[in-house]
Amino acid sequence: MRLFFVLISFMLISCTNDYEDFTENFDDYVPTSLKTENVIILVIDGPRMSETWNEPNKQYIPDRIKLMQEGVLISNFMNKGTTLTVSGHSSILNGTYENLDNNGTETPINPSLFQYFLKDKKLPNDKAWIIASKSKLKVLANCTDPKWKDQYLPKIDTGNANNTNRTDVLTIESFKNTLTKSSPNLVMINLKDVDIAGHENNWDGYIEAIKNTDRQIKEVWDFIQSDANYKDKTTLIVTNDHGRHDDDNGGFQSHGDKCKGCQHIEFFAIGPDFKKNTIINLGNYEQKDIAKTIGILLNFPLENSDGKVIKDIFINPYFIR
Ligand SMILES: [Zn+2]
Ligand SMILES: [Zn+2]
Repeated sequence: MRLFFVLISFMLISCTNDYEDFTENFDDYVPTSLKTENVIILVIDGPRMSETWNEPNKQYIPDRIKLMQEGVLISNFMNKGTTLTVSGHSSILNGTYENLDNNGTETPINPSLFQYFLKDKKLPNDKAWIIASKSKLKVLANCTDPKWKDQYLPKIDTGNANNTNRTDVLTIESFKNTLTKSSPNLVMINLKDVDIAGHENNWDGYIEAIKNTDRQIKEVWDFIQSDANYKDKTTLIVTNDHGRHDDDNGGFQSHGDKCKGCQHIEFFAIGPDFKKNTIINLGNYEQKDIAKTIGILLNFPLENSDGKVIKDIFINPYFIR
C-alpha cells in the first residue's frame, strides 16, 4: 500500500514537471496526438459583442448557446490591429497586424496560412479555399513577400468575376458544394450581411443578419459532422474581422478605430482537440493568434507570424516534439 502511494506521488510530480516544461515551450513542440485534420474559419463580418455573446439574454444567438455544449469561447478576445475588413481578415490569415487599404487594392506583405499549409503538405491548390461574400477579399490570396509571392496560392470563390458581393446564403451554398467537390483541408468563409446592414444604419436588418449568421454557424457545423471526410476530425473557428463602435463612440453604424466596441471580437470554436462547454478569459489572446493556433492543429510552421498559440483552449496541453 505504501509503495502504491509512493508510486502515485512520483507520477503526480513527474506529470507536473512535464506539464511545466511542455507549456513553457509550447510553440516549440509539435503535436503527435491531435485529431484535427481540417480547419474551417468562419468570419462573421462586423457584429458587436454587445449583440452576440454579451447581449444580456443572448437572444440573438440561440444556436451558439446550444453549440456551446461542444464548444469553447474566449470572452475577452481582441483585434488589436486595424479594425477594418481587409486588415482584420488579413490578421486572421497571416498572424500579423498589417494596415492595408480597405478597398481591396493592397496585397498583404506576409504569406497566409494557406500558403504555409499548401507548401508544407505539398498539396494541390484546391485543398485550401477563401469562400467570401465580399469580393474584395480576393486580395488576401496572395502576398508581396518575394519568397512567397504567386506561390502556393489558395483557390478563391467570391461567386462572380465582376467584383460584386453576393448574399451570405449563396456563400454558404458554395461552401457546401466546395466541401463535397474538393474536400479541402483549410477554408476561410466570410459572411457580409451583418456588416452591410450596420453601414446602412438599419438596426432591424443588423439584428436579423446576426440571427441568420447564428443559424448558418449551426448549418456549417451540422454539414461538417454529416460528411464522413470531416466528421470528428474538423475544427470550426467562428470569429470576426472587427466589431463596431460602442454607443459612446458613434454607435453600431460604423467601425474602424480602437474603441472597445470595434476591438472586442468573438472567438468561438468547436473541434475534437478543444475543450467543451468552457469559457476562457485568461491569456490576453487576440486576433493575430489564430493563425499560429491553426498551425499547431494541422502541424505546419508559420515563419512570419508573430502571434502566439492559444494553448488554453486545448483539451490536452501535452505536446511531444
Ligand atoms: Zn468587416
Ligand atoms: Zn469604434
